[in-house]
Amino acid sequence: MRALEYVRAADPGEAVRLVSGDPQAAFLAGGTTQLDLMKDGVLNPGLLVDITRLPLHGIEPNGEMLHVGSLVTMEELAADPVVAARIPLVREALLAGASTQLRNMATIGGNLLQRPRCRYFRDPAVPQCNKRVPGSGCAAVENTARMHAILGVSERCIAAHASDVAVALVALDAVVRIQGVSGRRAVPLTDFYRTASESPERENVLAHGELITGVDIPLLPAGARSGYLKVRDRASYEFALTSAAVALVVSDGVVRHARVGLGGVGSTPWRAWGVERELSDAPADRATFRQAAESAVRGAWTVPGTAFKVELAQRTLVRALQTVAGVAA
Ligand SMILES: Cc1cc2nc3c(=O)[nH]c(=O)nc-3n(C[C@H](O)[C@H](O)[C@H](O)COP(=O)(O)OP(=O)(O)OC[C@H]3O[C@@H](n4cnc5c(N)ncnc54)[C@H](O)[C@@H]3O)c2cc1C
Ligand code: SF4
Repeated sequence: MRALEYVRAADPGEAVRLVSGDPQAAFLAGGTTQLDLMKDGVLNPGLLVDITRLPLHGIEPNGEMLHVGSLVTMEELAADPVVAARIPLVREALLAGASTQLRNMATIGGNLLQRPRCRYFRDPAVPQCNKRVPGSGCAAVENTARMHAILGVSERCIAAHASDVAVALVALDAVVRIQGVSGRRAVPLTDFYRTASESPERENVLAHGELITGVDIPLLPAGARSGYLKVRDRASYEFALTSAAVALVVSDGVVRHARVGLGGVGSTPWRAWGVERELSDAPADRATFRQAAESAVRGAWTVPGTAFKVELAQRTLVRALQTVAGVAA
Protein backbone atom coordinates (compact mmCIF):
# COMPACT_ATOMS: atom_id res chain seq x y z
CA MET A 1 0.00 0.00 0.00
CA ARG A 2 1.38 3.43 -0.95
CA ALA A 3 0.30 6.58 0.91
CA LEU A 4 -1.43 9.13 -1.30
CA GLU A 5 -2.78 12.54 -0.42
CA TYR A 6 -5.81 13.92 -2.29
CA VAL A 7 -6.84 17.59 -2.41
CA ARG A 8 -9.65 19.25 -4.34
CA ALA A 9 -8.38 22.64 -5.55
CA ALA A 10 -10.65 25.64 -4.95
CA ASP A 11 -9.34 27.79 -7.79
CA PRO A 12 -6.73 27.55 -10.60
CA GLY A 13 -4.18 29.56 -8.59
CA GLU A 14 -4.35 27.13 -5.70
CA ALA A 15 -4.08 24.13 -8.04
CA VAL A 16 -0.96 25.59 -9.63
CA ARG A 17 0.60 26.48 -6.27
CA LEU A 18 -0.01 23.01 -4.85
CA VAL A 19 1.47 21.09 -7.77
CA SER A 20 4.33 23.53 -8.42
CA GLY A 21 5.38 23.38 -4.79
CA ASP A 22 5.67 19.60 -4.67
CA PRO A 23 7.73 17.59 -7.17
CA GLN A 24 5.64 14.49 -6.29
CA ALA A 25 2.28 16.15 -7.00
CA ALA A 26 0.09 15.76 -10.10
CA PHE A 27 -3.16 17.18 -11.43
CA LEU A 28 -6.18 14.91 -11.64
CA ALA A 29 -8.84 15.66 -14.27
CA GLY A 30 -11.02 12.81 -15.61
CA GLY A 31 -8.41 10.33 -14.39
CA THR A 32 -8.65 8.04 -17.43
CA THR A 33 -4.88 8.23 -18.06
CA GLN A 34 -3.58 9.27 -14.66
CA LEU A 35 -5.31 6.55 -12.61
CA ASP A 36 -4.51 3.80 -15.15
CA LEU A 37 -0.80 4.61 -14.93
CA MET A 38 -0.93 4.74 -11.14
CA LYS A 39 -2.59 1.32 -11.01
CA ASP A 40 0.12 -0.03 -13.33
CA GLY A 41 2.83 1.41 -11.07
CA VAL A 42 4.20 3.68 -13.81
CA LEU A 43 3.28 6.91 -11.99
CA ASN A 44 3.50 7.19 -8.21
CA PRO A 45 2.48 10.71 -7.17
CA GLY A 46 2.39 11.54 -3.45
CA LEU A 47 -0.32 14.18 -3.93
CA LEU A 48 -3.21 14.28 -6.39
CA VAL A 49 -4.73 17.72 -6.92
CA ASP A 50 -8.25 17.29 -8.26
CA ILE A 51 -9.03 20.10 -10.71
CA THR A 52 -12.46 18.93 -11.83
CA ARG A 53 -14.37 21.63 -9.87
CA LEU A 54 -12.38 24.53 -11.33
CA PRO A 55 -14.32 26.97 -13.54
CA LEU A 56 -12.75 25.71 -16.78
CA HIS A 57 -15.82 24.01 -18.27
CA GLY A 58 -16.97 26.62 -20.80
CA ILE A 59 -17.19 26.53 -24.60
CA GLU A 60 -17.28 30.13 -25.79
CA PRO A 61 -17.36 31.33 -29.40
CA ASN A 62 -15.43 34.57 -29.84
CA GLY A 63 -15.57 35.84 -33.43
CA GLU A 64 -13.72 33.35 -35.62
CA MET A 65 -12.33 31.53 -32.55
CA LEU A 66 -13.76 28.97 -30.16
CA HIS A 67 -12.42 29.07 -26.61
CA VAL A 68 -12.66 25.66 -24.94
CA GLY A 69 -12.03 25.31 -21.21
CA SER A 70 -9.58 22.52 -20.40
CA LEU A 71 -12.18 20.62 -18.34
CA VAL A 72 -14.71 20.36 -21.16
CA THR A 73 -15.15 16.66 -21.82
CA MET A 74 -14.55 15.03 -25.19
CA GLU A 75 -18.25 14.20 -25.43
CA GLU A 76 -19.34 17.78 -24.59
CA LEU A 77 -17.05 19.24 -27.24
CA ALA A 78 -18.22 16.73 -29.85
CA ALA A 79 -21.84 17.76 -29.15
CA ASP A 80 -21.21 21.49 -29.51
CA PRO A 81 -23.13 23.01 -32.47
CA VAL A 82 -20.32 25.40 -33.46
CA VAL A 83 -17.88 22.49 -33.58
CA ALA A 84 -20.27 20.47 -35.75
CA ALA A 85 -20.90 23.38 -38.13
CA ARG A 86 -17.51 25.10 -38.36
CA ILE A 87 -14.81 22.54 -37.46
CA PRO A 88 -16.37 19.14 -38.17
CA LEU A 89 -12.95 17.46 -38.32
CA VAL A 90 -12.67 18.10 -34.55
CA ARG A 91 -16.02 16.43 -33.91
CA GLU A 92 -15.06 13.45 -36.09
CA ALA A 93 -11.69 13.08 -34.34
CA LEU A 94 -13.32 13.21 -30.91
CA LEU A 95 -15.95 10.62 -31.77
CA ALA A 96 -13.29 8.33 -33.28
CA GLY A 97 -11.56 8.17 -29.88
CA ALA A 98 -12.02 5.81 -26.94
CA SER A 99 -15.63 4.92 -26.02
CA THR A 100 -18.70 6.91 -24.96
CA GLN A 101 -18.08 6.12 -21.28
CA LEU A 102 -14.48 7.31 -21.49
CA ARG A 103 -15.38 10.40 -23.51
CA ASN A 104 -17.84 11.43 -20.80
CA MET A 105 -15.00 11.44 -18.24
CA ALA A 106 -12.01 12.47 -20.35
CA THR A 107 -11.24 16.17 -20.57
CA ILE A 108 -9.67 18.11 -23.43
CA GLY A 109 -6.70 19.18 -21.27
CA GLY A 110 -6.12 15.58 -20.20
CA ASN A 111 -6.46 14.36 -23.76
CA LEU A 112 -3.66 16.65 -24.97
CA LEU A 113 -1.48 15.37 -22.11
CA GLN A 114 -2.31 11.67 -22.34
CA ARG A 115 0.76 9.47 -22.11
CA PRO A 116 1.90 7.01 -24.81
CA ARG A 117 0.31 3.60 -25.19
CA CYS A 118 3.74 1.94 -25.62
CA ARG A 119 3.41 -1.40 -23.81
CA TYR A 120 7.02 -1.24 -22.56
CA PHE A 121 6.47 2.21 -21.06
CA ARG A 122 3.34 0.92 -19.32
CA ASP A 123 5.07 -2.11 -17.82
CA PRO A 124 7.53 -1.19 -15.03
CA ALA A 125 8.90 -4.76 -15.18
CA VAL A 126 10.55 -3.83 -18.50
CA PRO A 127 13.89 -2.23 -17.57
CA GLN A 128 14.61 -0.44 -20.89
CA CYS A 129 12.47 2.63 -21.40
CA ASN A 130 14.12 6.02 -21.86
CA LYS A 131 10.80 7.71 -21.14
CA ARG A 132 10.30 6.02 -17.76
CA VAL A 133 13.97 5.60 -16.82
CA PRO A 134 16.10 8.13 -18.76
CA GLY A 135 19.24 6.54 -20.17
CA SER A 136 17.99 2.94 -19.89
CA GLY A 137 17.42 2.32 -23.62
CA CYS A 138 14.31 1.53 -25.64
CA ALA A 139 12.73 -1.94 -25.54
CA ALA A 140 10.38 -1.15 -28.45
CA VAL A 141 13.16 -0.75 -31.01
CA GLU A 142 14.11 -4.45 -30.75
CA ASN A 143 10.62 -5.87 -30.06
CA THR A 144 7.02 -5.79 -31.28
CA ALA A 145 6.28 -2.20 -32.26
CA ARG A 146 3.17 -2.18 -34.42
CA MET A 147 1.54 0.78 -32.64
CA HIS A 148 4.67 2.96 -32.65
CA ALA A 149 5.70 6.05 -34.59
CA ILE A 150 7.87 6.70 -37.64
CA LEU A 151 8.21 10.51 -37.56
CA GLY A 152 10.01 12.53 -34.87
CA VAL A 153 11.57 9.35 -33.50
CA SER A 154 15.00 7.76 -33.18
CA GLU A 155 16.54 4.68 -31.59
CA ARG A 156 16.07 6.47 -28.24
CA CYS A 157 12.26 6.32 -28.37
CA ILE A 158 9.61 5.49 -30.99
CA ALA A 159 6.46 6.06 -28.93
CA ALA A 160 3.50 7.49 -30.87
CA HIS A 161 1.29 10.28 -29.58
CA ALA A 162 -2.10 8.62 -29.10
CA SER A 163 -4.53 11.54 -29.20
CA ASP A 164 -6.96 11.81 -32.11
CA VAL A 165 -8.34 15.26 -31.42
CA ALA A 166 -4.85 16.75 -31.05
CA VAL A 167 -4.21 15.81 -34.69
CA ALA A 168 -7.19 17.91 -35.78
CA LEU A 169 -6.25 20.74 -33.40
CA VAL A 170 -2.64 20.88 -34.57
CA ALA A 171 -3.89 21.16 -38.18
CA LEU A 172 -6.15 24.07 -37.16
CA ASP A 173 -3.39 26.08 -35.45
CA ALA A 174 -5.04 25.78 -32.03
CA VAL A 175 -3.37 27.60 -29.15
CA VAL A 176 -2.95 26.19 -25.61
CA ARG A 177 -3.60 28.57 -22.70
CA ILE A 178 -1.41 27.90 -19.69
CA GLN A 179 -1.28 29.20 -16.11
CA GLY A 180 1.82 28.83 -13.95
CA VAL A 181 3.19 30.29 -10.72
CA SER A 182 4.78 33.17 -12.60
CA GLY A 183 1.79 34.02 -14.79
CA ARG A 184 -0.09 33.00 -17.91
CA ARG A 185 1.14 32.20 -21.39
CA ALA A 186 -0.24 30.97 -24.69
CA VAL A 187 1.59 28.40 -26.82
CA PRO A 188 0.60 27.31 -30.34
CA LEU A 189 -0.07 23.57 -30.32
CA THR A 190 2.48 23.20 -33.13
CA ASP A 191 5.15 24.38 -30.63
CA PHE A 192 3.70 22.67 -27.56
CA TYR A 193 5.02 19.13 -28.02
CA ARG A 194 8.61 17.88 -28.03
CA THR A 195 9.48 14.97 -30.27
CA ALA A 196 10.70 11.65 -28.87
CA SER A 197 13.94 12.08 -30.79
CA GLU A 198 14.54 15.42 -28.99
CA SER A 199 13.63 14.25 -25.50
CA PRO A 200 11.95 10.90 -24.77
CA GLU A 201 11.43 11.87 -21.12
CA ARG A 202 9.83 15.25 -21.78
CA GLU A 203 6.78 15.28 -24.07
CA ASN A 204 5.84 18.96 -24.05
CA VAL A 205 6.94 22.42 -22.96
CA LEU A 206 4.94 22.51 -19.71
CA ALA A 207 6.92 23.11 -16.53
CA HIS A 208 5.95 21.01 -13.52
CA GLY A 209 2.83 22.58 -12.00
CA GLU A 210 1.72 24.51 -15.08
CA LEU A 211 -2.01 24.10 -15.67
CA ILE A 212 -3.69 24.04 -19.06
CA THR A 213 -6.67 26.35 -18.63
CA GLY A 214 -8.05 26.12 -22.15
CA VAL A 215 -7.54 25.82 -25.88
CA ASP A 216 -8.35 28.45 -28.51
CA ILE A 217 -9.44 26.85 -31.77
CA PRO A 218 -9.65 28.97 -34.93
CA LEU A 219 -12.78 28.21 -36.94
CA LEU A 220 -12.41 27.20 -40.58
CA PRO A 221 -12.88 29.84 -43.28
CA ALA A 222 -16.15 30.00 -45.22
CA GLY A 223 -16.33 27.33 -47.90
CA ALA A 224 -13.90 24.96 -46.19
CA ARG A 225 -14.64 21.25 -45.97
CA SER A 226 -12.94 18.97 -43.51
CA GLY A 227 -12.77 15.46 -42.14
CA TYR A 228 -10.86 13.01 -39.96
CA LEU A 229 -10.01 9.51 -41.14
CA LYS A 230 -8.72 6.95 -38.65
CA VAL A 231 -7.35 3.55 -39.67
CA ARG A 232 -7.27 1.02 -36.83
CA ASP A 233 -7.44 -2.68 -36.11
CA ARG A 234 -11.01 -2.49 -34.74
CA ALA A 235 -13.86 -0.19 -35.71
CA SER A 236 -14.10 1.33 -32.23
CA TYR A 237 -12.31 1.51 -28.88
CA GLU A 238 -8.93 1.33 -30.58
CA PHE A 239 -6.02 3.70 -31.12
CA ALA A 240 -4.98 4.81 -34.61
CA LEU A 241 -2.50 2.88 -36.70
CA THR A 242 -2.61 5.94 -38.95
CA SER A 243 -4.97 8.87 -39.22
CA ALA A 244 -5.35 12.10 -41.15
CA ALA A 245 -7.12 15.35 -40.29
CA VAL A 246 -7.75 17.42 -43.39
CA ALA A 247 -9.33 20.81 -44.08
CA LEU A 248 -9.51 22.16 -47.64
CA VAL A 249 -10.94 25.06 -49.56
CA VAL A 250 -11.24 24.04 -53.21
CA SER A 251 -12.56 26.34 -55.92
CA ASP A 252 -12.55 25.85 -59.70
CA GLY A 253 -10.83 22.49 -59.10
CA VAL A 254 -7.83 24.11 -57.37
CA VAL A 255 -6.79 23.82 -53.70
CA ARG A 256 -6.85 27.37 -52.25
CA HIS A 257 -6.32 26.48 -48.58
CA ALA A 258 -5.05 23.25 -46.99
CA ARG A 259 -4.47 22.19 -43.40
CA VAL A 260 -3.23 18.67 -42.70
CA GLY A 261 -2.40 16.76 -39.51
CA LEU A 262 -1.34 13.12 -39.19
CA GLY A 263 -1.91 10.71 -36.32
CA GLY A 264 -0.50 7.31 -35.40
CA VAL A 265 2.78 8.08 -37.15
CA GLY A 266 4.35 10.88 -35.11
CA SER A 267 5.79 11.07 -31.63
CA THR A 268 3.74 14.26 -31.54
CA PRO A 269 0.42 15.07 -33.25
CA TRP A 270 2.04 15.68 -36.63
CA ARG A 271 1.50 18.84 -38.69
CA ALA A 272 2.19 17.98 -42.33
CA TRP A 273 3.65 21.29 -43.45
CA GLY A 274 5.25 19.79 -46.58
CA VAL A 275 1.93 18.32 -47.71
CA GLU A 276 0.21 21.69 -47.29
CA ARG A 277 2.90 23.38 -49.41
CA GLU A 278 2.48 20.78 -52.16
CA LEU A 279 -1.29 21.15 -52.15
CA SER A 280 -1.29 24.92 -52.25
CA ASP A 281 -2.68 26.20 -55.60
CA ALA A 282 -2.43 22.70 -57.10
CA PRO A 283 -5.24 20.85 -58.92
CA ALA A 284 -7.48 18.99 -56.47
CA ASP A 285 -7.00 15.56 -58.03
CA ARG A 286 -5.65 12.15 -57.15
CA ALA A 287 -2.25 12.73 -58.80
CA THR A 288 -1.65 15.85 -56.67
CA PHE A 289 -2.80 14.07 -53.51
CA ARG A 290 -0.58 11.04 -54.11
CA GLN A 291 2.46 13.25 -54.76
CA ALA A 292 1.74 15.39 -51.70
CA ALA A 293 1.37 12.27 -49.56
CA GLU A 294 4.93 11.23 -50.41
CA SER A 295 6.23 14.33 -48.68
CA ALA A 296 4.23 13.39 -45.56
CA VAL A 297 6.54 10.49 -44.74
CA ARG A 298 9.84 11.96 -45.92
CA GLY A 299 12.45 11.34 -43.21
CA ALA A 300 10.52 8.44 -41.66
CA TRP A 301 12.60 6.31 -39.26
CA THR A 302 11.28 2.77 -39.07
CA VAL A 303 11.90 -0.55 -37.35
CA PRO A 304 10.59 -3.81 -38.87
CA GLY A 305 7.33 -3.55 -36.91
CA THR A 306 6.51 -0.03 -38.10
CA ALA A 307 7.75 -0.13 -41.71
CA PHE A 308 4.19 -0.80 -43.02
CA LYS A 309 3.13 2.64 -41.80
CA VAL A 310 5.11 4.44 -44.50
CA GLU A 311 2.67 3.22 -47.17
CA LEU A 312 -0.39 3.09 -44.92
CA ALA A 313 0.03 6.72 -43.85
CA GLN A 314 0.18 7.84 -47.48
CA ARG A 315 -2.90 5.84 -48.42
CA THR A 316 -4.78 7.17 -45.40
CA LEU A 317 -3.93 10.73 -46.34
CA VAL A 318 -4.84 10.30 -50.03
CA ARG A 319 -8.20 8.80 -49.07
CA ALA A 320 -8.91 11.58 -46.59
CA LEU A 321 -8.01 14.25 -49.17
CA GLN A 322 -10.19 12.61 -51.83
CA THR A 323 -13.14 12.34 -49.47
CA VAL A 324 -12.91 15.94 -48.28
CA ALA A 325 -12.34 17.31 -51.80
CA GLY A 326 -15.12 15.14 -53.24
CA VAL A 327 -12.73 13.55 -55.75
CA ALA A 328 -13.60 10.04 -56.93
CA ALA A 329 -11.20 7.27 -55.85
C1 LIG B 1 -9.16 2.28 -22.97
C2 LIG B 1 -8.83 3.64 -23.47
C3 LIG B 1 -8.97 3.93 -24.82
C4 LIG B 1 -8.67 5.20 -25.29
N1 LIG B 1 -8.77 5.47 -26.63
C5 LIG B 1 -8.45 6.71 -27.10
C6 LIG B 1 -8.52 7.02 -28.49
O1 LIG B 1 -8.89 6.18 -29.31
N2 LIG B 1 -8.19 8.28 -28.88
C7 LIG B 1 -7.78 9.25 -28.00
O2 LIG B 1 -7.49 10.37 -28.41
N3 LIG B 1 -7.66 8.97 -26.69
C8 LIG B 1 -7.99 7.74 -26.23
N4 LIG B 1 -7.86 7.46 -24.90
C9 LIG B 1 -7.21 8.43 -24.03
C10 LIG B 1 -8.21 9.34 -23.37
O3 LIG B 1 -8.77 10.21 -24.32
C11 LIG B 1 -7.40 10.12 -22.31
O4 LIG B 1 -7.10 9.20 -21.28
C12 LIG B 1 -8.18 11.27 -21.75
O5 LIG B 1 -8.50 12.22 -22.74
C13 LIG B 1 -7.39 11.95 -20.63
O6 LIG B 1 -8.20 12.93 -20.05
P1 LIG B 1 -8.48 12.92 -18.48
O7 LIG B 1 -9.32 14.11 -18.20
O8 LIG B 1 -9.02 11.60 -18.06
O9 LIG B 1 -7.00 13.13 -17.96
P2 LIG B 1 -6.28 12.60 -16.65
O10 LIG B 1 -6.11 11.12 -16.74
O11 LIG B 1 -6.92 13.14 -15.43
O12 LIG B 1 -4.88 13.33 -16.83
C14 LIG B 1 -3.99 12.98 -17.85
C15 LIG B 1 -2.66 13.70 -17.60
O13 LIG B 1 -2.80 15.10 -17.83
C16 LIG B 1 -2.57 15.85 -16.62
N5 LIG B 1 -3.60 16.89 -16.67
C17 LIG B 1 -4.94 16.70 -16.85
N6 LIG B 1 -5.55 17.89 -17.00
C18 LIG B 1 -4.59 18.84 -16.94
C19 LIG B 1 -4.60 20.27 -17.08
N7 LIG B 1 -5.72 20.95 -17.30
N8 LIG B 1 -3.40 20.93 -16.97
C20 LIG B 1 -2.26 20.26 -16.74
N9 LIG B 1 -2.19 18.92 -16.60
C21 LIG B 1 -3.34 18.22 -16.70
C22 LIG B 1 -2.69 14.85 -15.49
O14 LIG B 1 -1.87 15.20 -14.40
C23 LIG B 1 -2.18 13.58 -16.17
O15 LIG B 1 -0.76 13.58 -16.21
C24 LIG B 1 -8.19 6.20 -24.39
C25 LIG B 1 -8.08 5.92 -23.02
C26 LIG B 1 -8.39 4.66 -22.56
C27 LIG B 1 -8.24 4.39 -21.09
S1 SF4 C 1 9.27 3.59 -27.40
FE1 SF4 C 1 9.68 5.19 -25.88
S2 SF4 C 1 8.12 4.80 -24.34
FE2 SF4 C 1 8.32 2.89 -25.52
S3 SF4 C 1 9.94 1.65 -24.55
FE3 SF4 C 1 10.94 2.90 -26.08
S4 SF4 C 1 11.62 4.70 -24.86
FE4 SF4 C 1 10.00 3.72 -23.69
